Amino acid sequence: MLHNYHTHTPRCNHALGQDREYVEAAVAAGLKTLGFSDHSPYIFPEEAGGYYSSFRMRPEQLSDYVGSVESLKKEFKDRIRIVTGVEIEYYPKCFDRTEAFLKAGGVSYMLLGQHMFGNEFDKGSFHVAGKNPGTIEQYKDYVSLIVNSIKSGKFLYVAHPDIYYFDGPEEVFKEQSARICEASKETNVPLEINLLGYKGRRHYPGRKFLEVAAETGCPMIFGIDAHRPEDILEAKDTEARFREEYKDLGLKIIDEELI
Ligand SMILES: [Zn+2]
Ligand SMILES: [Zn+2]
Repeated sequence: MLHNYHTHTPRCNHALGQDREYVEAAVAAGLKTLGFSDHSPYIFPEEAGGYYSSFRMRPEQLSDYVGSVESLKKEFKDRIRIVTGVEIEYYPKCFDRTEAFLKAGGVSYMLLGQHMFGNEFDKGSFHVAGKNPGTIEQYKDYVSLIVNSIKSGKFLYVAHPDIYYFDGPEEVFKEQSARICEASKETNVPLEINLLGYKGRRHYPGRKFLEVAAETGCPMIFGIDAHRPEDILEAKDTEARFREEYKDLGLKIIDEELI
């Protein structure tokens, strides 16, 4: 891969290393594009009662984040192209003003990374990667949100599109996965092959989802989802192992400047 748009920084409270170390790793790995996409700050509504999200940067950290990336962009301009983005959930109740805040703050792209069913502050919300996936109806609602987000045209691509841990009937999984893949094909918004999940042997990217993606012919793109600079250094090897394991599928993998 030459273009990676999925990179975190310690501002999300669960990534390690300095911003500069991620850039140095990307240069060493021969990347042409490094996109920073740390877990976005969110402007939560009044009803969230002062809720604090521990896995994302705070709104007051945005200017430090953008400023740091912009200064690295200038410093490294002859060696690598750097772009400023975020990874963000689509929470209809408070997305619009958060998006406006990000744009005003100098963020130029958003990856959709929908980690939650519901949101973080409403009762009944839950993390979708856990082995407590909720009902079939909830899974379908989650997929509808992804499909609508893809069609909104607001997102550069969908990070880990199969992060939802669904262990219900296989035909439901296939039919819902197809909805995501078809929306991607229709809009040309790529779906990510998440290299962190692959390296960590998480349930995503999973073969069943990849089979549907291959059948649909939707565009797919590698994302390192770096939470440590080493993730970038190891990406080539991780990518090669992935390609070998799934070469039978004929996935449509793109590797190009998206922004
Ligand atoms: Zn993370
Ligand atoms: Zn991520």
